[in-house]
Amino acid sequence: MQKEIIMTDKIELIGLSKEELAEAIAEIGEKPFRVKQVWQWLYHHGVTDFEKMSNLSKDLRAKLAEKFTITRPKIVAEQISADKTHKWLLEFADGQRIETVYIPEEDRGTVCISTQVGCAVGCTFCHTGSQKITRNLTAGEIVSQFLVARDAYNEWPTPTDEVRHLSNIVVMGMGEPLHNKENTFKALKILSDGDGVAISRRKITLSTSGIVPHIAEVASELGCRLAVSLHASNNELRTRIMPINKKYPIEDILTACQEFQRRAGSCKYITFEYLLLNGLNDSLENAHELVDLMKKYKIDAKFNLIPFNPWPGCDYQPSSKNRAMAFSKELGKFGYAAPIRVARGQDILAACGQLKSKKEQEK
Ligand code: SF4
Repeated sequence: MQKEIIMTDKIELIGLSKEELAEAIAEIGEKPFRVKQVWQWLYHHGVTDFEKMSNLSKDLRAKLAEKFTITRPKIVAEQISADKTHKWLLEFADGQRIETVYIPEEDRGTVCISTQVGCAVGCTFCHTGSQKITRNLTAGEIVSQFLVARDAYNEWPTPTDEVRHLSNIVVMGMGEPLHNKENTFKALKILSDGDGVAISRRKITLSTSGIVPHIAEVASELGCRLAVSLHASNNELRTRIMPINKKYPIEDILTACQEFQRRAGSCKYITFEYLLLNGLNDSLENAHELVDLMKKYKIDAKFNLIPFNPWPGCDYQPSSKNRAMAFSKELGKFGYAAPIRVARGQDILAACGQLKSKKEQEK
């Protein structure tokens, strides 16, 4: 049964770092070894009820319940598309709503999480971005999106890597994660902690519109994979498609990407997201400009070519199949993998750039 959200002055445990949890446990006079036990109940077993923490004494369980709380966001609506993509509309204690999507594939499954309510970047092609920024999500709110997905597929206790349905995380939902860096990094550290949810950092991809000052920190502070929304092969075009390019032009982004690669270990490869817009950014000249950029900045790159999902009020058109194929092939000729992504969950508006709640649209 879905737990109702009740405003309380108890401390929320979901989203505390291990160090913060240790402080909280010390404050109620408990020994440090309890920290790992509680952490495992929260993130390895996924319990939301202190009574189920069976290796803790009855007294301690009562003490924890008195001081702390374990909350999941409220599931306002959920939909499963014909291709099994699963979308949740989640509501937090203050009534703000975001969406989380699970995309199952044959040998893995990816949970796409949001980091902000709305987005301040304003990419002109993005349905999500047409919803103005309201606030950053807390680390707990970011973490809890993955926990909701795990609850739905009953992947508790944390299964071994090989048999997981929910094996990967992409930070590509609503919001710009590097505009909410502290909470996003904290949440991803919690989700990758080996005592709990244990998603390997190699299976986490943070996607940014190119917030230059924080790009290299994704390697040095997190060590996860990086995806950059490029969507254009020169500044003039990119500024039209993504006005934030005025602040962070392509040269600055690629210089930051060089630094990312210098700091990154095995997660060095950068994926450049490239939305294919008919007649705008999908010519062979555009492909050649991209190749020149990658060579100039010596970036180990892969391109993810994304078919555009039209939405009412947006004038862009998706590239024709022939143009998309030719573009992909041209990049391939120069040694850059450039698969065309298969759109997922289109029937439930869960595909890229469509992430905006139906309820919000109705409003
Ligand atoms: S694509 Fe990402 S960064 Fe751009 S407006 Fe949409 S949510 Fe924000």
